[in-house]
Amino acid sequence: MTLTAGGPVRLTERVAVVTGGAVGIGRAYSRRLAAEGARVVVADIVDPAPTVREIEAAGGEALGVSVDVTQEPMVRAMARTAVDHFGRIDILVNNAGIFAPLQPTPFEALSETEWDRIMAVNVKGVFFCCQAVVPTMKAQRSGRIINVASAIVMKGSPLFLHYVASKGAVIALTRALAREVGDYGIAVNAVAPGFVLSETVRQNPTLAGALSAPVVQSRCFRRDQTAEDVEGAVVYLASADSAFVTGQTLVVDGGSIFL
Ligand code: NAD
Repeated sequence: MTLTAGGPVRLTERVAVVTGGAVGIGRAYSRRLAAEGARVVVADIVDPAPTVREIEAAGGEALGVSVDVTQEPMVRAMARTAVDHFGRIDILVNNAGIFAPLQPTPFEALSETEWDRIMAVNVKGVFFCCQAVVPTMKAQRSGRIINVASAIVMKGSPLFLHYVASKGAVIALTRALAREVGDYGIAVNAVAPGFVLSETVRQNPTLAGALSAPVVQSRCFRRDQTAEDVEGAVVYLASADSAFVTGQTLVVDGGSIFL
């Protein structure tokens, strides 16, 4: 058995696609999945090369693919590239989304354009990515889809109505898709992080300023949440340890909300 500082490597030989895997929390998922032995496709609208280099420098294996998850032909090409390069797709982490650039906005002031943009990336993008990888997973008769939702859905936080609705849709589609693909050995689950001070959220002082202090006070663990706090839940949902878990949403928020 190969061992890392954190224990046994759990995803050897697995192929994982991480959308939005180049920066923010997705970068942490990419690095951690690689550290667990997975070969990682870092799929992002921003340049994935620095994250790929980082993984390779640490002894891991990764491939960068430029993709806009709202563009179905690009998403299908991304899945084809993953299979051509690595031969299979075992894990899809649907992490691409728009959160970090958002400004708190009363719902009356949200434009149709803003609504459509959030829904296109956060919901339609997840739908396209699932459609693109499921044929490969069905042929393998195994697969793990991990959708990134948000604990903001259960909290019903104000001033982000389009975002909250989009992540609610992610939880809903997780449950329904799990029933459609269970017969093929494919698990579909979601993680719902709390407010994470990711590298990109830190670049938006209005967002960080509005949410940080009240969220920390609401937690059992009264401290800021980092990307590294979430990655273990993704590894669990990608690993054999969660073999009989599907259709679920795992809240990782330091105990701010209880289901
Ligand atoms: P982020 O905005 O920094 O990351 C989003 C990622 O998606 C980036 O890599 C970005 O380049 C990519 N992306 C955006 N549009 C894309 C597109 N059209 N096609 C492909 N990739 C695209 O935010 P983050 O804080 O790192 O969040 C990552 C995920 O976690 C998002 O889905 C977010 O909604 C979710 N989330 C974040 C928090 C938080 O507090 N930061 C909490 C709960 C859930």
